[in-house]
Amino acid sequence: MSDRIVIVGAGQAAAQAVQTLRAENVAAPITMIGDEAYLPYQRPPLSKKFLAGELEAERLLIRPVEFYKEAAVEIRLGQKVVALDRKAKAVRLGSGEVIPYGKLLLATGSRVRRLGGPNAELPGVFYLRDIADVDAIRPHFKPGARLTVIGGGYVGLEVAAVAAKSGLEVTVLEIADRVLARVASPEISSFFEAEHKKAGVAIRTRCGAVSIEGKGKLEAVRAGDDRINADLLIVGIGILPNMELAADAGLACDNGILVDENARTSDPDILAAGDCTTHPNPLMNRRLRLESVQNAIDQAKAAAHAMAGRPRPYAEVPWFWSDQYDLKLQSAGLSEPGDARVLRGEMSARKFAVFHLRDGVVVAVECVNAAPEYMIGRQLIAKKARIAPERLADVNTPMKALI
Ligand SMILES: Cc1cc2nc3c(=O)[nH]c(=O)nc-3n(C[C@H](O)[C@H](O)[C@H](O)COP(=O)(O)OP(=O)(O)OC[C@H]3O[C@@H](n4cnc5c(N)ncnc54)[C@H](O)[C@@H]3O)c2cc1C
Repeated sequence: MSDRIVIVGAGQAAAQAVQTLRAENVAAPITMIGDEAYLPYQRPPLSKKFLAGELEAERLLIRPVEFYKEAAVEIRLGQKVVALDRKAKAVRLGSGEVIPYGKLLLATGSRVRRLGGPNAELPGVFYLRDIADVDAIRPHFKPGARLTVIGGGYVGLEVAAVAAKSGLEVTVLEIADRVLARVASPEISSFFEAEHKKAGVAIRTRCGAVSIEGKGKLEAVRAGDDRINADLLIVGIGILPNMELAADAGLACDNGILVDENARTSDPDILAAGDCTTHPNPLMNRRLRLESVQNAIDQAKAAAHAMAGRPRPYAEVPWFWSDQYDLKLQSAGLSEPGDARVLRGEMSARKFAVFHLRDGVVVAVECVNAAPEYMIGRQLIAKKARIAPERLADVNTPMKALI
């Protein structure tokens, strides 16, 4: 029987799992299998500095190659795991090779949701998930080029910001009644919408069904009655968890691979971490599927600790960030529609925070260029602090005094 730890996927969660396993003195051999050509790298810069051409690909790597050598990790890049045999405790690669495992970590991440319908695959239509996508987009990122972005979520708006700064003519199409509708409060949505408009980006919300027009290559995007001429289309309409390997092998899945607070799946020898999972969060009192670096890192740590036989349950306040223009948006916690919202600072000063209170308790915060509000806000959420809204709103009361 093999004692090998096999990691499927070579992304953010995989890199962290390797690091924590070795830091925990787990001596078992480790094999990490990834279908991309690269060592694990950070995706956030893909829609920010890397897209802007301000960062080299090597700078994206989470760890240099020497790290994996020292950790004695066998790395298989450019290879896809196509099947999981739980009875034989082995995975099969596309090449047919079979690799046995003692423990398996599924860190398969997620993939972009694609547009359906005619012309959806025309040249000129792009998605943004990996380095290869940016490499394909970059040559089209020329001043004066007409870019349409479908989807006003984080990725779509970050792309729009980089494109506007690079001199492209940008239109964002959003089906909801505001940008960032799924992930941010109305205050944050309207603030970012205004900032994009100031930068010359056209934003159309409630845009209705979109379709793509062109003969042999993209020519225009149709949104309702509008026809928008376009040289380039970038689609950012969300992701789907890569859970098929697990589901086909009979592991419990529901909008992600189901794991417990120690990243364990329904099979005791298989763990899962990152975008591909849903997990119970005791601080939020519910199951979550998160798409963030924080979640990938913290869940991978929990998986590694569980494999080391020293479980440390994952119970963190979720946090996230987005960079657009010179604005840093940082958010922590999760809000719900009925929560009260308290504004601290002036939106017009481009430095403010929106706190979310549920029954008087701080449950979430969204900050724009407001680091103290974010740092202390995270602690207030973890402590389930009850703070009077007037005190939260009063910029003359230092954040430190609220903790
Ligand atoms: C453009 C963009 C911007 C982002 N910005 C932010 C941000 O600002 N802040 C933030 O917190 N998060 C951001 N994210 C999200 C964050 O990058 C992800 O949540 C994180 O990478 C998830 O880590 P992971 O290890 O679960 O998956 P990934 O990092 O995606 O790694 C999974 C890897 O597994 C591979 N794989 C899948 N199936 C197989 C298989 N069968 N065999 C072999 N290999 C396989 C995949 O190809 C991939 O390389 C962004 C993501 C994108 C795409």
